[in-house]
Amino acid sequence: MAAAASHILPTYARVEMSFERGEGIWLESTTGERFMDFTSGVAVNALGHAHPHLVKALTEQAQKVWHTSNLYRIPGGEKLADRLCEATFADQVFFTNSGAEALECSIKMARKYQAVIGHPERYRTITFEGAFHGRTLGTIAAGGNKKYLEGFGPPVEGFDQIAPGDIEAVKAAITPETGSILIEPVQGEGGVRVISTSFIKALRELCDQRGLLLILDEVQTGVGRTGELFAYMRSGITPDIMAIAKAIGGGFPLGACLATAEAAKGMTAGTHGSTYGGNPLAMACGNAVLDVVLEPGFMDSVRRKSVLLRQRLAEIKDRHPSIISEVRGEGLLIGLKAELPVGELVDALRAEGMITVAAGENVVRLLPPLIISEEEIAEAVQKIDRAATRIEQSLTQSARATA
Ligand SMILES: *Cc1c(COP(=O)(O)O)cnc(C)c1O
Repeated sequence: MAAAASHILPTYARVEMSFERGEGIWLESTTGERFMDFTSGVAVNALGHAHPHLVKALTEQAQKVWHTSNLYRIPGGEKLADRLCEATFADQVFFTNSGAEALECSIKMARKYQAVIGHPERYRTITFEGAFHGRTLGTIAAGGNKKYLEGFGPPVEGFDQIAPGDIEAVKAAITPETGSILIEPVQGEGGVRVISTSFIKALRELCDQRGLLLILDEVQTGVGRTGELFAYMRSGITPDIMAIAKAIGGGFPLGACLATAEAAKGMTAGTHGSTYGGNPLAMACGNAVLDVVLEPGFMDSVRRKSVLLRQRLAEIKDRHPSIISEVRGEGLLIGLKAELPVGELVDALRAEGMITVAAGENVVRLLPPLIISEEEIAEAVQKIDRAATRIEQSLTQSARATA
């Protein structure tokens, strides 16, 4: 089908499809078809669609006040910051509208910290191959993906990229100008590549020895996605700075930069800002998301469902080794490594009524809402099994046709 003419800048290769409404893990298209949402708006809709508690929180706030700017105190923001600090390593929070902005704040904060403690020369950040940190000029430089840098002029200075996993390589990359290390605990866009706990621990130790700040990008892994409230919690270490976004707003644009008081000490009045960041509507949504994910037992249920889904996916992999060669990931951030072009598997899943999203290394990402039920997991597994069977059948048919 030819794409309809559109005035939207064509920076995305969009699927010719749109949605009318959603409920729970289900989305209904404008043509009336139902889809199981295993994309969650790319790890955003952690509580699914039209969650009653989120709808109530947003509509109640909408009737009071939408926006006041950061020239005044915002009670909902102070409450959300208190709760985020209570639940994590952090002492201070800066609210943003997106993940990239949360990373920009994190990188600026690390540079400022080194400057105010007397090391303005330590403005450089070590980052890792396969990383994704956003699409601003700063974050494409941090991510280092050549496709995203191409044609946009000289990359923002200050990032040194190396392969993840090799602590000796990190040591070798540290120069007198290095001030921080930035890493995703699981590389999401990069292909659901899990960074080992031992490597994260080794980075923490190295940062402590060399006076560097450890920045975690938990924009995709955060707010329950990996089966922990934040992925760092499985490693027993804490970062100095952490960028979050995606799931924290439950679908309302919201991000945050969390930091220790020490790391944040350069960020005084006038050093950073955002017109919308932390606006009352976003704060109502963020608090409502926390109400649900902080409920006792919620994270246990995510872990239980992750084990169930991954067991069933391992069986599918064993049944269809010519389609799926590996199941990887953490919690409900799961990657299926495809043995055929990943787009074909995504299309076959969509034909079965399930929407998913591709990632690097030929991986299909499965990102169901965290509120998915065990019955829905069983149904999802059937859809994946049917899609794999269908591809196998069409492959044997085309092999016969060419024989
Ligand atoms: C999505 C993502 C970002 C960028 O977030 P935006 O809201 O699109 O700016 C940054 N880091 C990671 C790990 C992400 O998954």
